[in-house]
Amino acid sequence: MYETVVLNQQVRVIDQEMQGIGGQKLDMPSLCSADLWKTSERWDLMGKELFRLKDRHNADYCLGPTHEEAVTTLVAHQATLSYRQLPLLLYQVTRKFRDEPKPRFGLLRGREFYMKDMYSFDMSEEAAHKTYESVCQAYTRLFARLGLRCVQVQADTGNIGGTLSHEFQLPADIGEDRLLVCGTCSFAANVETLSPDKTDCPQCSTGTLVESKGIEVGHTFYLGRKYSNIFKATFSNHQNKPTVAEMGCYGLGVTRILAAAIEVMSTEEAIRWPGLIAPYQVCVLPPKKGSKVEEAAVLAEDLVHTLGQFLPHLRGEVVLDDRTQMTIGKRLRDAGRLGYPYVVVVGQTALEEMPKFEVICQQTGETVFLSKDGLIDLLRTVETV
Ligand SMILES: [Zn+2]
Repeated sequence: MYETVVLNQQVRVIDQEMQGIGGQKLDMPSLCSADLWKTSERWDLMGKELFRLKDRHNADYCLGPTHEEAVTTLVAHQATLSYRQLPLLLYQVTRKFRDEPKPRFGLLRGREFYMKDMYSFDMSEEAAHKTYESVCQAYTRLFARLGLRCVQVQADTGNIGGTLSHEFQLPADIGEDRLLVCGTCSFAANVETLSPDKTDCPQCSTGTLVESKGIEVGHTFYLGRKYSNIFKATFSNHQNKPTVAEMGCYGLGVTRILAAAIEVMSTEEAIRWPGLIAPYQVCVLPPKKGSKVEEAAVLAEDLVHTLGQFLPHLRGEVVLDDRTQMTIGKRLRDAGRLGYPYVVVVGQTALEEMPKFEVICQQTGETVFLSKDGLIDLLRTVETV
């Protein structure tokens, strides 16, 4: 249940970053006619990964794993597109389908998953490279906001095509990709793009390449005119002449980012989401009903009210776990499993002359005792979507 909440929060962060660089959100159909895919010749090229189906008239369709064909056709039908409207950045966050040979349980590699795919249209190669760069920067910002240390690596263009490509990789032992990272400069590459026995850095020539494993969470491609030529995606230039657009495409594995983040951030006892997209930022635990400190229950309710009043950015982000028939210990374990960044226990110390709340910071594993003012100060800097 919380996965859906977290996923929605993550989409909000993605929307902020994509719209921040001029992205316009749309929603293209998952069910795609085979004609477009045959025109681009990817109907055969995609092989068994493409989910194919037929309608009652025996016409071929596929469930789109990516939408270069569809979006380029859409732009080709804009009869009046002018250079003044470029760059055009169109994106969607939708379910995608891929017939994986070995689908793995969970969110990391499924046959159905959420992806953000963006497509850019530019008036020249130079402009397209600038757009490419700005999308890569937006990805870097996005991962930084989520607290994920991703590396941007040189990558293979695969069956998408184009001439320039990068992957955003989250280093992790369970990763399926092998990366070579320079210890001296910023160079990093997927092993696929280099000869396997390469150990000296091609960029700085003094550094040594070290191998690590990574989970691919984003991929960018500079496509040039590959699809715009085929589908006649043109704009009118300064001389009012129709000109073929330069394109790029940019994917983010939305469900995969979440799965990878949980994988690298969690501990044995606690699930950790990126704090920014956690289901609630703060969970307040009143004492167990019938316990010696039961009278502190009213202080817990009071605290929730006060936090809402003094910290408007946390409205809707504070939850009271009022299952007071359960012990504090049991509810603490649940709180660990649900991954709230801050858990506040209202018990014995809240009833003392100088009332203190026990605050567990789940992201760092620290426990501190704070007065109400101290707690408000701590939570003032918490970033929310
Ligand atoms: Zn280097």
